[in-house]
Amino acid sequence: MSKKFVYLFREGQASMRDLLGGKGANLAEMTNIGLPVPPGFTITTEACNDYYALGRNLPEGLWEQIGPALGDIEKATGKKFGDKDNPLLVSVRSGAKFSMPGMMDTILNLGLNDETVEGLAASTQNARFAYDSYRRFIQMFGDVVLEVEHHEFERILEEAKEKQNVNYDSELTAESLKGVVEGYKRLIQRRTGSPFPLDPMKQLEQAILAVFRSWNNDRAIVYRRINSIPDNIGTAVNVQSMVFGNMGNDSGTGVAFTRNPSTGERVLYGEYLMNAQGEDVVAGIRTPQPIKSLEDENKAIYAQFVETSNSLEAHYRDMQDIEFTIERGRLYILQTRNGKRTAPAAIRVAVELCREGVISKEEAIARIEPGQLDQLLHRRMDSEAKLEVIAKGLPASPGAASGKIVFDADEAERLGHTGERVLLVRTETTPDDIHGILAAQGILTSRGGMTSHAAVVARHMGKPAVCGCEALRIDYAHNTVTIDGVTYPEGTLFSIDGTTGRVIKGAVPMIDPELSEEFKELLGWADEIRTLKVLANADNPRDAQKARDFGAQGIGLCRTEHMFMDPARIPIVQEMILAQTLPEREVALAKLLPMQEEDFYGILKVMAGFPVTIRLLDPPLHEFLPNVEELVVDITKLKLQGDREEELNEKEVLLRKVRALSEMNPMLGHRGCRLGITFPEIYAMQARAIFQASARLVKEGCEIHPEVMIPLVIHVKELAKLRKVTEEAAQTVMAEQGVTFSYTIGTMIEVPRAALTADEVATAADFFSFGTNDLTQTTLGFSRDDAEGKFLPAYLEQNILEHNPFAVLDRIGVGKLMKMGVQLGREANPGLKVGICGEHGGDPSSIEFCHQIGLNYVSCSPFRVPIACLAAAQAAVSSKGQ
Ligand code: PEP
Ligand code: MG
Repeated sequence: MSKKFVYLFREGQASMRDLLGGKGANLAEMTNIGLPVPPGFTITTEACNDYYALGRNLPEGLWEQIGPALGDIEKATGKKFGDKDNPLLVSVRSGAKFSMPGMMDTILNLGLNDETVEGLAASTQNARFAYDSYRRFIQMFGDVVLEVEHHEFERILEEAKEKQNVNYDSELTAESLKGVVEGYKRLIQRRTGSPFPLDPMKQLEQAILAVFRSWNNDRAIVYRRINSIPDNIGTAVNVQSMVFGNMGNDSGTGVAFTRNPSTGERVLYGEYLMNAQGEDVVAGIRTPQPIKSLEDENKAIYAQFVETSNSLEAHYRDMQDIEFTIERGRLYILQTRNGKRTAPAAIRVAVELCREGVISKEEAIARIEPGQLDQLLHRRMDSEAKLEVIAKGLPASPGAASGKIVFDADEAERLGHTGERVLLVRTETTPDDIHGILAAQGILTSRGGMTSHAAVVARHMGKPAVCGCEALRIDYAHNTVTIDGVTYPEGTLFSIDGTTGRVIKGAVPMIDPELSEEFKELLGWADEIRTLKVLANADNPRDAQKARDFGAQGIGLCRTEHMFMDPARIPIVQEMILAQTLPEREVALAKLLPMQEEDFYGILKVMAGFPVTIRLLDPPLHEFLPNVEELVVDITKLKLQGDREEELNEKEVLLRKVRALSEMNPMLGHRGCRLGITFPEIYAMQARAIFQASARLVKEGCEIHPEVMIPLVIHVKELAKLRKVTEEAAQTVMAEQGVTFSYTIGTMIEVPRAALTADEVATAADFFSFGTNDLTQTTLGFSRDDAEGKFLPAYLEQNILEHNPFAVLDRIGVGKLMKMGVQLGREANPGLKVGICGEHGGDPSSIEFCHQIGLNYVSCSPFRVPIACLAAAQAAVSSKGQ
């Protein structure tokens, strides 16, 4: 016996998502809870996988199971597939385990042909509707199944409108539509060499094959890559009896969210169109009505819809995105799924569902995708700024963006890759524009509503979007947009505010974000749940304050070299580096000492009560020196002028020194604690500055926790030596100032040898901090400055590496060293505190790993602190669940 490939909706179950896909499982579940779902069946994802395994052929036994399933629909609806009097029409839709909106194809009205169309006309007493359905079907089938270009159909439709002298499709008469149908059929014959298939069973077979094929169309592949959806899970196919929203003025169709997907507010939010079919709303071709006005149009249907949407939300315990159709005054639910939402909405919905007692705090935490919070922690328009608002559209996706306008997705992608900030401006977007949307700062469309493609995709990606901005007249031929009679060429700087729908000429000042009350509440729950501490990387009091505001529990990395980069200090730093003797160097160090003391004073004060981990000088010294090429140019110019001998000599001496310091491989060269080993006086000065600042603060009654961190250690003896230098500085300052203070000394683990000998290194350390930027670089032997631009993309494309290892921790390799470091380190020194301060400290997946291997803290950029807090709580929740 062959496998069971076909499940009637009532045979399926919510838990069968792998087999039935998300949509199929939902349809089964909705059917089983008694909602008004048009009957149908699902062909399994297994059938799709078998289809590919068999070299793109239908698996044996599948077709035999479809007949009886169709029979079941016929029985339930009282209609017959292919019957010329009372024909059953079906939709055929893809539906993978994970929602991939608009990425694959859908065919509606399948089953229509020259005979059944007459039956539909007679049974609905509406010839116009029947022929409109027929022409839509041929168009979709032609486009999706037979791959005849969409615009060729559109041209025939346009010609018909011109001939009849009308503006809108809806004004075409049945006679005109018959002409369109004939035109479509001729087009298909011409393009494919075969007639349009009139046999409904043939239509069904071809449509099912097309859905299987669409699993591997380009946009589906791109979408899966962006969203980390596996390629080998296949799609299910849902075949469902059609209901019609275009059967007259007592029919209609719409989509609605049970809560506002932009803000999360608990109000029914959506749009509908009377006398229209689903794709009119979703494609944003006609501008729909807000759902609230359905109440005026039909009170009873509205009330039924409100009740149904409430029960759907209660059943799924999450905000739902519902597609519905009204056929001659009767409501049908076509689809429901957990609604996509902006980050603010995600937070508000989760927090309110928890407050309403529907979900637990742990579930609320788990519901938020930490990466999505990024958009909340970024900038928005300064409301005080004077703005030249030139148009207004629908506020489709919140946040603000500025950029040069471009009218084409390919161009947006091209410019985006050169680092240019662009806004993609289109009449409407389609799934084919996905790469351009990805590359753009924001999206602006002239048509389509809040649920149009552009709006849905932008919200999901966290990009600002303004849609349905009807004042725009886009001229693709000349690459211009005209607004109120003013024409703007491609490349003009615009700004959009997706929170209010404003379109602004020029760039706009932006301001920093603030956390909403719900966000703070959620973070409070995260704090109760997480065991990892979250610290921030900050090098100045301003960033330290921002980190505190976002809830950082200290500073995990203060990079002191950033303080040396100040233009006023660079000459002194150069003096220090270029000094030939110790006394010369000490002159320069003495000048730097008070400056560094002020730096540390400011940061320690902001972070009163919390640890501040200050790393002693780390980068290769040449980073502070003048550029060799520039020096050579200057010298050549001076030589040609021939009159500034003294300056020329100075520059030549400088060039010799710079050349003498230059290294073949600076990242593996004279940097990190090797500087402290060769020039202990530099580290001694920095330690003194830290402790002088500490002494002052102690005298002021401020609680301080300085932690001195030695970078790039490979051997316990390095650390032991530099520990001594640091301790001597502390002793000296305490004696001089007559105060005592506590401090700790630790090291970064950034080189494999340090991790491999962590048991030895830990004997001289109070704490370890994994510098996973360098540890990744030194473990993989990938230069982090070169890899991303050169060979790393090939490694990702060829699936040698799953992620960029500088963004997402390489758990298997680098992670193994970390595990070893933690274990060996704690065995030798049970009190050892261990954290991470590389970029990975702000990446949710890496944070999960840090939790699993038992780190004490993660440290990340101030803006990522809330994300890290949430990710840490999620890690705690999921490890508890295991
Ligand atoms: C690291 O190497 O991970 C680190 C934090 O140090 P830096 O990035 O400054 O080299
Ligand atoms: Mg480093």
